[in-house]
Formats: sequence, C-alpha cells, structure tokens
Amino acid sequence: MLLARENGFCFGVKKAVELTEAAAETGRSVHNLGQVVHNPTISRRLAERGVKVIRSPADASDGIVVIRAHGVPPAVRAEIEQRGLECIDATCSLVLRAQRFTKQLADEGYRVVILGTPDHPEVVGLKGYAGNDFVIVESEEEWERLPRMKKTGVVSQSTQPPWAFTALVAHVATIAQEMKVFNTVCPVTVKRQHAASELAEQVDTILVVGGKNSANTRELVNLARMQGRHAYHIESADEVLPEWIAGQDTVGLIGGCSTPMETLLQVKARAEALATAEGREARAAAPA
Ligand code: SF4
Repeated sequence: MLLARENGFCFGVKKAVELTEAAAETGRSVHNLGQVVHNPTISRRLAERGVKVIRSPADASDGIVVIRAHGVPPAVRAEIEQRGLECIDATCSLVLRAQRFTKQLADEGYRVVILGTPDHPEVVGLKGYAGNDFVIVESEEEWERLPRMKKTGVVSQSTQPPWAFTALVAHVATIAQEMKVFNTVCPVTVKRQHAASELAEQVDTILVVGGKNSANTRELVNLARMQGRHAYHIESADEVLPEWIAGQDTVGLIGGCSTPMETLLQVKARAEALATAEGREARAAAPA
C-alpha cells in the first residue's frame, strides 16, 4: 500500500473540528450549522458528544452555534446574533479571505464571476458577499455562454482545480473590458491534488477516502481517472472490495482534506488484510 505524501486534515478542517469539540466540552447545547466537515466518521463522533446538526439558526433555541469551515452569508451570521445565540466562527481563514475579496469586487462595482458549484455551502456563503450582480459558473460550457461584460471580477470556490480557474480567467479576459482577478483556490487542496497525481504515476489503482459530498475528495477521484487510473471513492474501510486489490502489486491511498488519518489507517489495514488473504489463497491453489 502506498500512501500519498499529503494526507490527513487540512488546517481549516482541523480548526473547525477542534472548536466544535471544545464547545461540546462546555456542557452547553452545541449546534453545527450544517455538517462541520463532509466526513461521516467525524459527524458520528461529534453526534456522540451531543453536537446537533441544524440547517438554519432558527432550528436552535439556545446555546452555541458553530459556523463551519465553509463559512456562511453575512445574513446568516447576523441571524445567529439576532436570536441571542452564541456564535463560534470556524470559517477557514482562506474562505474568509475569499469572502473579503468578493465583497471588495462588489463594492467596487465589478460583476462577480464565481467559479464553483452553485449549491456548495462555501459558494452559498460567497454569493452573500457578491452584491446583486454576480454569476456562478462551474464548467467550460457555462463560462463560454457568458455575454460580453464591462467591469468583471473573478474569484473561485477554494476547492476548484487550478487549471479550471486559469481557463476561466483566460476566457473572461477575452470578453471583459476590465477585469480584476483574485486567485482564491486553496493552496492546501492544490498540494493534495499534486500528491494524487504523483501517486497516479506510481500505481494503477487508487483508493480515495472521503465523504461522498466532499468537493475536494471528488476532485482527487477525477484527477486519478483523468490519468487513466482505477480510482475508487469510499468513505470507510468496509467498502473496500477484494477485487480492487486482487492482482495489484501496490495500491495507492489518499484522503480528502476532511478525512481523518484514523479512517485512512483503517482502510490501509483492511486493504492489506485482503491482499494477504489473496496471497494465501493463491499459494494454496498453486501446484505442489
Ligand atoms: S480545504 Fe483549504 S479552504 Fe477549505 S478548509 Fe481546508 S485549508 Fe481551508
């Protein structure tokens, strides 16, 4: 089994989980506004400590509301305070930076083009800072349909691939009279994507571990598949199938930015146990 050189929580996820756990220690009623990270193991662990997941501040009658690493629109933040709830803001510093730049563009009269998935919580938060004139694009077909524009600003959801951001910026340069760009692609996810590509150069099969709704994990799967590798997206060790391991000299292993090391090590242990069992069966079946 070959582990990618980048694994485990990114600093933003680590901070969000630690702040939620610290809040739970106070014994007060603690709410996460949406899943704190897109990872089922962590969600279960926090639920066992009494942390409830809510969809809106209106779902909490008292106690603490923790804003997750993805951030929220300013109106949601204001609602938490209006309701007299204590707010712990675990928005990642890189997402706060993207929100600041988005607001700056809107304040300076730019139409904001956001590269991202429209219903992803981070993009929902960014939209809240983009004023009344913004557009969200996720694919080349979408940005090629953009009309000619005057003042145009470009930002990105943190987990978008850097090549998509570069391609979007190059296109906007051909249709905008004036353009301002803030590169808000997260460098931590870029490093993780490089690690996935390196791994794909060394193995045929890669297990990618992370929540099925985790954007950065899905991007790692896409990258490995774009390099012609078999990439399997799983959330936990019990999903590993023997046929993925059979006949492979080495299998690669990488996790998303919200995948705890303990889950990765469980996957590693199961894949190695399956490989050992397969070896034993092959030796037993071989002619004496
Ligand atoms: S992936 Fe990047 S932007 Fe997102 S929480 Fe982690 S460090 Fe922050």
